[in-house]
Amino acid sequence: MTFLTGWGRTAPTPARLTRPRSAEEIAELVRRAPARGVAARGLGRSYGDAAQNAGGLVCDCTGLDTWSIDETTGLVTAGAGVSLHDLMAALVPRGWFVPVTPGTRHVTVGGAVAADVHGKNHHVDSSFGAHLRSLTLVTASGETRTVTPDRSGGDDGGDGGDLFWATVGGMGLTGVITEAVFRCVPIETSRVRVDVERTRDLDQTLETMAATDDRYRYTVAWIDLLARGGRMGRSVLTRGDHAARDELPRGADPLAFNPGPVLKAPPWAPNGLLNPVTVRAFNEAWYAKSRPATGLIQGIAPFFHPLDGVDGWNRVYGSRGFVQYQFAVPFGQEATLRRIVARLSAEGVVSFLTVLKRFGPGTPGMLSFPIPGWTLALDIPAGRRGLARLLRGFDDQVAEAGGRIYLAKDSRTSAATVAAMYPRLDEWRRVRDEVDPAGVFRSDLARRLLL
Ligand SMILES: Cc1cc2nc3c(=O)[nH]c(=O)nc-3n(C[C@H](O)[C@H](O)[C@H](O)COP(=O)(O)OP(=O)(O)OC[C@H]3O[C@@H](n4cnc5c(N)ncnc54)[C@H](O)[C@@H]3O)c2cc1C
Repeated sequence: MTFLTGWGRTAPTPARLTRPRSAEEIAELVRRAPARGVAARGLGRSYGDAAQNAGGLVCDCTGLDTWSIDETTGLVTAGAGVSLHDLMAALVPRGWFVPVTPGTRHVTVGGAVAADVHGKNHHVDSSFGAHLRSLTLVTASGETRTVTPDRSGGDDGGDGGDLFWATVGGMGLTGVITEAVFRCVPIETSRVRVDVERTRDLDQTLETMAATDDRYRYTVAWIDLLARGGRMGRSVLTRGDHAARDELPRGADPLAFNPGPVLKAPPWAPNGLLNPVTVRAFNEAWYAKSRPATGLIQGIAPFFHPLDGVDGWNRVYGSRGFVQYQFAVPFGQEATLRRIVARLSAEGVVSFLTVLKRFGPGTPGMLSFPIPGWTLALDIPAGRRGLARLLRGFDDQVAEAGGRIYLAKDSRTSAATVAAMYPRLDEWRRVRDEVDPAGVFRSDLARRLLL
C-alpha cells in the first residue's frame, strides 16, 4: 500500500498503486478490480482527494506516454499520461502550443480532460474539452471505447456524445482515459507580449477586466487579499498574446522553449511560516514590483507557470498542508464575489496566491466547472482556526448565486453542496450508471461527495 495525497497534502489515504504501460494492461486491471474499485491518477496536481482511492487500486497513467502530431492540421494524438510539459518541450520548437494550459504544465492529458481544465484564455478559448476531437477510454466492463463530442460519432454507434461529455470534467469516474485527440494552436514564437496594469481596488479590477479583457487572449488578475479599506481587492492585471516573430530582439531563437532553472523548495517548512506578517510583506513587495508596463516580452514559463519555477512549493505550507478554494459565480452576481473578498480581507486570511479570472462560455461537460462569470482561486493553510466554517459559509453564498466550486481543487465540501451547485449532476449520474453500473471507478472524492 502507498499513501497518496493531492497537491494540498491533506488527508493521505493508502491504496495499491500500479503503473500500467498500455490500454490492454489497464483493461485487465479493470476486469479484476478490487471491491474498493479503481481510480485513475495523473501527476497528482489536483489539490484534494480526486486521485486517491482508500483501500482500493490507483492506476498511475503516466506510463501511457506516447504521442504524435499531424503538422498540417495541428491535431495531436496523445496517451493520457503525457504531460503538458513534455508536449510543450517538443511542440513549441515546432511552432505549436497546447490549446489550454492550467497554471502548472505538470499535469497529464488524462488529468486535463477529467477536470476539463481552464487557463488564462478561457474567455476566448473555453476549456480543454472544447478542443478535443475524440477520447479513448477503458470502461468498467474492460471494453475500450472511442467517443466523440457529437452523438453520431465514435465507434459505439450513437451514445458518443453523452459518454464523451460525462467524461470531460467527470473526474475519472466514467473510465480510464487512455488517449485523447485535440487540436493545438500555431505560434510564431515561444514568447508572450504582456501588458501589466495595477488597480487600486476591487471595483476598478472588475471594471477594467470587464471592459478590456477581450483585447487579450490570456488574462489574469492577482489580488492582494490582505489589503483593506479603500485598497481592498487591489490587483495586478497581467494580460498578453503570443508574440509575433518581428517583435523579438534580433538574433533571438523565436521558438526556443527554455523554462529556466527550477529552484527546490526546502524539504520541510514550519507550520505557520505563511502568516499575516510574511504574506503581507510578500504582497506589498509584489504589488510594488509589478510596475505598469506594455509590450513586455516574456517566455512561456514565467508567464503561464510561474509556480513551476519552484519544485515542491506546496511544502511551504507545513505538515498540515493547505486547501485551495476556487469558486465561480455567474456574471451579474458580482455582489457575492465582493462579499467573499471583503470577508477574506477582514478576516486577514493569508493566501499566498489569489487569482481572479473572467470565464467565457463553458463546454457541454456535465460536471465541467467553468460557467460564464468570475472565478476566484486562493490557497489557505489547512490548520487555520475556523476555516471549515468560513468556507461552508462561502459555499452557501456561491450556491445561492448560481455558482459552483471546482472539484479538482476541493478537499472539504459536502455532497449536498455539490448537488446544489451542479444542476446536471443527475444527468451525469445516469450516464455514469449506465456505463459503470457496479461502481468500479471510485475515488475518495467520489465517496465523500456521493458522486
Ligand atoms: C500550481 C497549480 C496550478 C493549477 N492551475 C490550474 C488552472 O489554472 N486551471 C485548472 O483548471 N486547473 C489548475 N490546476 C489543477 C490541475 O490542472 C488539475 O487538477 C488537473 O486535473 C491535474 O492533472 P493531473 O494529471 O495531475 O491529474 P490528477 O491530479 O492525478 O487527477 C485529477 C483527476 O483526473 C482523473 N484522471 C487523471 N488521469 C486520468 C485518466 N487517464 N483517466 C481518467 N481520469 C483521470 C483523476 O481520477 C482525478 O479525478 C492547478 C494545479 C496546480 C498544482
